Amino acid sequence: MLLRTLFCVLAAAVAYYATTQIAWALCFPDSKVSLFFPPHAVLVSILLLVPARHWWAYTLAAVTAHFIATQRANWPPIYALHCEFFDAVKALVAAAAIRLLIKSPLKALTLRDSVVFVLVAVVLVPFAAAFWGAALTIYHGFGSHYWVEWRNLGISNAVTTVVLVPALLLGAHHLFVRRPKVPTVRRAVEAMLVAASMAAIGIVVFDRTPAGPNATPPLLYTPIPLLVWAALRFGLAGISMAMLLITFQAIWGTMRGHGPFLDQSPADNALALQMFLLMTATPLMLLAVVVEEERRTKEALRLRTDLMGLAAESANAAIWVWDLSTDEWWITEHGRALFSLEPGARVNLAALLERVHADDRPARVNAIARSIESRGDYEIEYRVQHPGGEIRWLHARGRCVTSGDGSGPTLLGVSTDVTARKQAEAAAVLEREDLAHLSRVALLGEMTASLAHELNQPLAAMAANAAAAQRFLARDEPDLAEVHAILADIAADGRRAAGIIRGIRNMACKADPKRVLVDVNAVVVDVVRLAHPDAYARHCELTTDRETDLPAVLADPVQLQQVLLNLVINALDAMRSCPAGQCRVEVASRRAGATAVEVSVRDRGPGLPAGPPGRVFERFFSTKPDGMGMGLAIARSIIEAHAGTLDAENADGGGARFWFRLPAHESAVAPVTAPAI
Ligand code: ADP
Repeated sequence: MLLRTLFCVLAAAVAYYATTQIAWALCFPDSKVSLFFPPHAVLVSILLLVPARHWWAYTLAAVTAHFIATQRANWPPIYALHCEFFDAVKALVAAAAIRLLIKSPLKALTLRDSVVFVLVAVVLVPFAAAFWGAALTIYHGFGSHYWVEWRNLGISNAVTTVVLVPALLLGAHHLFVRRPKVPTVRRAVEAMLVAASMAAIGIVVFDRTPAGPNATPPLLYTPIPLLVWAALRFGLAGISMAMLLITFQAIWGTMRGHGPFLDQSPADNALALQMFLLMTATPLMLLAVVVEEERRTKEALRLRTDLMGLAAESANAAIWVWDLSTDEWWITEHGRALFSLEPGARVNLAALLERVHADDRPARVNAIARSIESRGDYEIEYRVQHPGGEIRWLHARGRCVTSGDGSGPTLLGVSTDVTARKQAEAAAVLEREDLAHLSRVALLGEMTASLAHELNQPLAAMAANAAAAQRFLARDEPDLAEVHAILADIAADGRRAAGIIRGIRNMACKADPKRVLVDVNAVVVDVVRLAHPDAYARHCELTTDRETDLPAVLADPVQLQQVLLNLVINALDAMRSCPAGQCRVEVASRRAGATAVEVSVRDRGPGLPAGPPGRVFERFFSTKPDGMGMGLAIARSIIEAHAGTLDAENADGGGARFWFRLPAHESAVAPVTAPAI
């Protein structure tokens, strides 16, 4: 590592020595003015490439090399030492300012970075340092006009910096940091074409044109289109190389006594050449940076779009942008597939709406219209019908945004294929219904004994009444009025038995659930009637407390009966070991606030089992020896599917209270009652 650094320091010293010799060689034939002063640009570039902690070593090596060169050229040692100090400070200040103000001078240069570079390294440092440098020259007797010296020094450092520093930095970057990309044949041919044209025009303008009064200054403009070509097509690297070529051609021609820069005094000629280089290089460098910045932005945008497309594809989603003013849609490739749109075909609202299932079109159109009106978001699920007839579900989220440039609102959105979720949901509903049905049948099974007993009563009464009627008819003078009354009793008992059987059949049959307006009080009455024989058999009192004029709820009546029956049977179970006379279950209904109806079942048992109250609703939680622990879980899922809640608590005064709440339907009291049990 140390050896490598030592080698680099040595190489820097050699470069500084060599470029000093070049600077001295690049003088007009009739003057001592150096047109181009590369050592300064070389040292600044080196300092920008190496770590700041090594700056002292590189600076020392450079000025030592320069001092050796000056001594070989017989400069007065004091003057030479003074110059070394001046050069070192100048390069260090320029490098430090660039490092401080530009985040990464080697990588992606922005327009702001290049403006800072021009202001600091091309204008401020060279011309500020020139005050000191000019004084130095005059003081040691090497010049007579302070301002001429100031101007010469400032411009020569400015020109060298703008032409050489970017070229050196880019060259080093491509050589040491980033492997140079192999150009395509087309690009290589284009680069060679620019270089050859530049060389040819440079020879014509700077070497073949005679100097003096016959010179044609307008010829100076001829390289400009080529320089613009280099900047636009090859960026900063292109313009740096082109400027380097032009600079050396201009200096070479001028030094040989040719070209448009030789018709005035040597100092003025030098100034004209330097101004030409400075004024051409600076704006073209800025142009190249802008072009590169735009290219980078486009590339970043393309990457982001690809990434977005990839993300959307893996989420099976479409990402789209809809310009409302032109009805132009941009949609990801995968998105086109989701809507069965041709890969390159123009997309507009009508084309997309055509794919939306006819039943879902109004809802989608309304959601979008609301979003545009409120400049807000929308979320909707709808079906898409593909030309082959396949139907798929999409979940769309959109947002209406207005751009700052006043070009009108735009809608952005993501539409995800949720067919799999929809199918799973439908399957889950079917499963829940199956489970609920099984649980209902099990519930009825538990009640078989009491239901049989309940049926037995009317059947026995009917048999007894029929026997009595036969006896009456066997008399000599049958009392027909009596027989009539007996037959009426038989008919009533028959209806009672049929009612019980219908109730059992309703609960046991597996009909598709349907939502109708239900009067919960009717449900309470039916369930209490069904559970009554069971309660009676257990010596339990079963009472109701129904609030009148309750609003209807939109529900499946059989499922509501199932839930309530489950709660009542659980309440009766809970009071198994209750002393006779204390066994009481109350079923109550009431309004719960303005928008809900509540039905509760309260018992006088031991209360909820220890632990969190929510446990009783967990699947397979049971404290009963023969319990399955599914009843309350199913009851809760039924109530939640009706947008309601089912909960439990320990009641004041002992026992448990279970209640469910359902949203009240907007219309008044229930016009439809549950099927009779
Ligand atoms: P299972 O009746 O098969 O046990 P459930 O889901 O209907 O299943 O009830 C789960 C558990 O909740 C019961 O085992 C019981 O511990 C408790 N539980 C239900 N109702 C009551 C109640 N009224 N009083 C006390 N505990 C109850």
